[in-house]
Amino acid sequence: MCRNAQQGCRATFPLSNEYLHISNCPYEWQLCPHEGCGQQVLRKDAQAHDQSCSHWRQLCPMGCGTLLVRENQAQHNCYRELHQRYVAERRRQRAIAANLRRKMQRMQSRMAQIRRQINLMCESLEVGDLEAEEGEGTAWTDANATSRSSNRHRHTNSSSSRVRHI
Ligand SMILES: [Zn+2]
Ligand SMILES: [Zn+2]
Ligand SMILES: [Zn+2]
Repeated sequence: MCRNAQQGCRATFPLSNEYLHISNCPYEWQLCPHEGCGQQVLRKDAQAHDQSCSHWRQLCPMGCGTLLVRENQAQHNCYRELHQRYVAERRRQRAIAANLRRKMQRMQSRMAQIRRQINLMCESLEVGDLEAEEGEGTAWTDANATSRSSNRHRHTNSSSSRVRHI
């Protein structure tokens, strides 16, 4: 007969097996392991008591060093926190990458624009070489036609007609 028969153990075993049985008899009294509790509970009820023991405390199993108690156990979820931090970090890095990509695209389009402008400028320079000289000549003519002699005026006319010929 088990020494815990009073608590309800029905187990029978040879005396030589008593130690073996007692070490896992569900009706063995155990002291609650949580400091300050001091309650005796049957081994079979230990888990249920652990769930409701007001002195329950445990270092966070994730190793963050937080002493978990009943009150903060529900809020504290190291994995969840780590996961959230990881997700936030990923989101931040993705935002930075997207930002860089946008900047690069903007720079590329600006470079394409500049290239277009340079091409236009080259085209207008090639064609406009003569136009520019002609324009200058006209301006020189306008500025000097009234104050200077008609001799110069004639010279200008001949020079601009020469330019047109080329
Ligand atoms: Zn027993
Ligand atoms: Zn307890
Ligand atoms: Zn933790």
